[in-house]
Amino acid sequence: MNPHSYDEIDGLKHYKLFIDGAWRASSRNALLDCINPANGEVFARCYQAGTAEIDEAIASSDRAAKDWGATMVAEREIMLGRIAEVIRDRTPEIQALLIEECGSVHGKALWEIEYVLDCIRSAAGDVRHVMGETMPMTMPGQIGMSVRRPLGVIAGIAPFNSPFLLSMKKIVYALAAGNSFILKPSEETPVSGAVMADLCAEAGLPAGVLNVIPGVPAEVGDRLMADPRVKMITFTGSTKTGRHLAVEAAKNLKKFTLEMGGKSPLVVLKDADIDYAVDAAAWGVFLHQGQVCMANSKVIVEKEIFDTFRDKFVAKTRGIKVGDPRDPETVIGPLIRARQCQFIDGHISDATEKGATILTGGTHDGRIYQPTVLDGVTPEMRIYHEETFGPVVSLIVAEDSEDALRIANDTTYGLSAAVITNDMQKAMDFSMRMEAGMVHINDCTISDEPHVPFGGTKNSGFGREGGRYSMEELTEVKWVTIQMGKREFSF
Ligand code: NAD
Repeated sequence: MNPHSYDEIDGLKHYKLFIDGAWRASSRNALLDCINPANGEVFARCYQAGTAEIDEAIASSDRAAKDWGATMVAEREIMLGRIAEVIRDRTPEIQALLIEECGSVHGKALWEIEYVLDCIRSAAGDVRHVMGETMPMTMPGQIGMSVRRPLGVIAGIAPFNSPFLLSMKKIVYALAAGNSFILKPSEETPVSGAVMADLCAEAGLPAGVLNVIPGVPAEVGDRLMADPRVKMITFTGSTKTGRHLAVEAAKNLKKFTLEMGGKSPLVVLKDADIDYAVDAAAWGVFLHQGQVCMANSKVIVEKEIFDTFRDKFVAKTRGIKVGDPRDPETVIGPLIRARQCQFIDGHISDATEKGATILTGGTHDGRIYQPTVLDGVTPEMRIYHEETFGPVVSLIVAEDSEDALRIANDTTYGLSAAVITNDMQKAMDFSMRMEAGMVHINDCTISDEPHVPFGGTKNSGFGREGGRYSMEELTEVKWVTIQMGKREFSF
């Protein structure tokens, strides 16, 4: 890290805000403790933006947007390439931070970084494809066309669970489309935000094109929302926060996209390869200790194979290595917050009081929650409906494939869904009728690539992220005409 990005106080790094190309402490007299979820220790602190710093970030982004929006496409492609080079060079440092700050295991941390590199390749390829079109006009001698223009200042509000991937995806496409960007990282992972600013600065991104301002969520959010210079808010996080932001966006007539929570179903039909389905279901719910929006926390299995599936799934779950994320062999590390363990305990005790059975797990040691399998989950239980965001899966028996589809759709969420079957006709029918923004056949529910239309329906999302879908969200269409010869006016 650039030594200007922090003050060293009492042996702890105190990370600064990144505004207008410079590292700044805050006039706000409050610091955020950055806690390593594996041991609960404070490993760094972060300054928090006050109203003065938020306003400066907005003003800086507004100034920078004009020049950045006018850059030649080649210049933007070259800059994206340089950011990728810096990320490649600093991969071990980023990986170590994602383990320390977010409790990521080795493979998940590396996957985030590789995804971002892929995202940059994809976005650089999209820079020259921000297309308009010509259109016939009824006005004699007139030619009409549509052009896509950058929006200007875009603000991103990001969650903790994949802080590097989810923030960089927003940043990279916003820059590719010619916008400047203000990032408000999660209060759980603000150091990742500082690292992203540092990477872009090292790559030579002009001052103000990216500003990073950790701070009190509602304060930063309200100020960004109310300022007319901020043209769009792109949010990833819980449905509760997203719903609040949607109301605020409506009041301020602000464009927004929302990537929110999920309760994603994985359906296993009776003809499926059971061993494969067990592997898919386990990966799809236990990755990053279940703290993934797309996690298949509801696994619905046809009754003919339910017992075999359940026994094999429980055996697999019991064999998963749980513990310190610094150990490369660990699969399930710590949850981000201690109170998340209490939240999960609440889901499990509500379910067991209403008749569910814990087949394995159900306990935690510090922030490390044992992978947990529940049987007999019914719609009366909170866990049937609510996002758990932990390593807990509900196994649900279905009478037949129609019943499985009904249970899969019995949710207010609609992010991802999956079905495992060798019957392709049935699989395609499911893909059309599953109420989710993304459906995967013969896979688990966790899948993401930078260029696909990523996003949910129902209470899971509003808008899409990725590739040309991002480029469309992050630009606006303008209608332009040229009058050939003189137009005739009636008076
Ligand atoms: P969260 O909603 O608590 O926080 C997300 C972000 O919103 C954070 O930066 C937080 O500081 C900010 N925030 C909170 N209150 C705010 C307010 N009043 N105004 C402005 N900003 C505010 O979510 P989280 O716990 O960080 O993340 C987990 C959630 O995110 C889960 O529900 C998960 O499913 C969802 N998620 C969704 C996707 C997706 O792509 N659909 C991806 C990752 C995570």
